Amino acid sequence: MRLILFGPPGAGKGTQAVRITQKYATAHISTGDMLRAAVKNGTELGQLAKSYMDKGELVPDGVVIGIIKDRIGENDAKSGFMLDGFPRTVPQAEALSEMLNSTGASIDAVVSIEVNDEEIVKRILERQKIEGREDDTEDVVRNRLKVYRNQTEPLKSYYAEEGVLHEVDGMGSIDDVFGKIDSVLADLRA
Ligand code: AMP
Repeated sequence: MRLILFGPPGAGKGTQAVRITQKYATAHISTGDMLRAAVKNGTELGQLAKSYMDKGELVPDGVVIGIIKDRIGENDAKSGFMLDGFPRTVPQAEALSEMLNSTGASIDAVVSIEVNDEEIVKRILERQKIEGREDDTEDVVRNRLKVYRNQTEPLKSYYAEEGVLHEVDGMGSIDDVFGKIDSVLADLRA
């Protein structure tokens, strides 16, 4: 199964991704986690990425596309994967389609977790207290949300046209939301 987990920052993608990978044994590929690891290791990529991440801006398409291309070519991702935080722009989505088309593969489902802006800011400020992420401050969160609404959300129509978009209400408990995602994925396998 090849999935994209979609939604604004703070929608619970990371939390749901863990549950999904446990149940469906698929490779969890998070560009945010990969970029944070590069920042932590002080690599050249990390230094470049940090200048964007600190402001809540997107890292340039060419950079993240390169990362994803390498990652989905690895063995554990050959039979399926779940992308978390990628694609975030139309050029990223187009690059992904091209990569998959070249091997005859395609995306089976895009699960979009829907949460309103007020709840997002509330959740992210809570997460900041626990995880201390540098880009979880109120100003940066508001910018990340703006970037999401302007550059990323339009991708929903791209995937709706391909007939693979599934919107899930993300306002309930972690279990409730997982239940809804699970029923979408179970239907796909049926
Ligand atoms: P996330 O953990 O998915 O919220 O990502 C944290 C930050 O990493 C984002 O605010 C961006 O600066 C950067 N990032 C992660 N994924 C992407 C992507 N697909 N395209 C561009 N920037 C990204």
